[in-house]
Amino acid sequence: MVNLFSMMEENNKIMLEMERSKAELDILYEISNAMRTTLKLDEILYIILTGVTAHTGLAFNRALLFLVNTKDNLIEGKMAIGPESGEEANAIWKKIEQEKMDLDDLISAYKGSKKMLDQGLSQQVKRLKIPLQDESGGILALSVLDGMPLHLTRETIKNYANDPLIQLLKIDEVAIVPLKAKDKVNGIIVADNFITKKPIDKDDMRMLIMLSNQAGLAIENSHLYERAIIRAHTDSLTDLWNHGYFHYLLQQEVEKSKAIANNHFSVIMIDIDNFKIYNDTLGHQAGDTVLKELSSLLKGQSRKMDFVCRYGGEEFAIFLPHTAKEEAYLIAERLRCDIERYEFSSEEILPNQKLTVSLGVSTFPEDGLAPSDLISYADKALYQAKHLGRNRTCG
Ligand code: GH3
Ligand code: MG
Ligand code: MG
Repeated sequence: MVNLFSMMEENNKIMLEMERSKAELDILYEISNAMRTTLKLDEILYIILTGVTAHTGLAFNRALLFLVNTKDNLIEGKMAIGPESGEEANAIWKKIEQEKMDLDDLISAYKGSKKMLDQGLSQQVKRLKIPLQDESGGILALSVLDGMPLHLTRETIKNYANDPLIQLLKIDEVAIVPLKAKDKVNGIIVADNFITKKPIDKDDMRMLIMLSNQAGLAIENSHLYERAIIRAHTDSLTDLWNHGYFHYLLQQEVEKSKAIANNHFSVIMIDIDNFKIYNDTLGHQAGDTVLKELSSLLKGQSRKMDFVCRYGGEEFAIFLPHTAKEEAYLIAERLRCDIERYEFSSEEILPNQKLTVSLGVSTFPEDGLAPSDLISYADKALYQAKHLGRNRTCG
């Protein structure tokens, strides 16, 4: 009798265990499916954090995502999801329950919540840039360098009281899990139960680690995709944006202007003066070196917001968002003077003993509404600059 009872109890335990495992697998399956629907990094990060925080997901109160920037040796805060107070939490959770929002619904809500991700916790997280070093990098650097998940409890968290992450979160229990692709850590998920104070148990950690393995791969794929896109839009000789990307930018901006009133932007077309003489005298390789030097000069002297493109052979185009004619003209003149001042090798063989450029400027909307009109206006202005004696800007 006793035996039968204990067998039934054992059976029940196994059944419960199986049901829980199935539920966990369903959750992970749903989140990894969602991650596969996009290659855009910000969308992937949002899906990961939604999976960690949704009631139908891993159900943590808050989640933060950091990425490793190997170029600058930094860990950078990228995004966070979670309420800032108990009231906010109740309002959000009530809405989710009333509207019966599942994981898919929450993920689709992304477009509407983009603004929210520039406020509150997410904004604070984005300001965190932590050196990837043992001594000064604190708990996040430790997690990246060790590649091991950490569960800081009420007792162990005391050792990290001054850590920038712990100070930001103001909590006494947290899970910190590295994201990996091919054994390299490319990010970190931090999750806690800031509102409910529900202790983080072994199952929570296990689920978070399993999700992190998927998330690390999804982030790596997105990085590869973004790099491929950039390569496809880059000119191989000069490293500037290429002809195709310049046209894409113009088209995009013209489309945008249909929705935004009073949008204006400018285009500068640039052509090297007497470049044929330089090439014919010194050869194409010397000419290519000048193209490279001139390109880095243009890029270095332009504003961060502008797009410097190689339009064709020895012609360049700069796309200047939100820039009126007068400002664009001043920028063009400044670039012209910078190039005139720069000492290019063997430039004394040119008619004026200096390598110079001529420039044409056009501005939306006054000089044209379509990309082709803006390009031909700037082209005509450039032709006029050549006609008037070169080394000048018209527009
Ligand atoms: P202008 O002042 O009227 O512009 O005279 P130009 O000699 O520069 O004439 P044009 O703008 O038509 O320049 C064409 C020359 O530019 C032909 C060629 O020698 C050189 N060129 C064009 N593309 C390249 C390139 O990719 N590499 C090199 N090295 N030279 C190029
Ligand atoms: Mg030319
Ligand atoms: Mg030329």
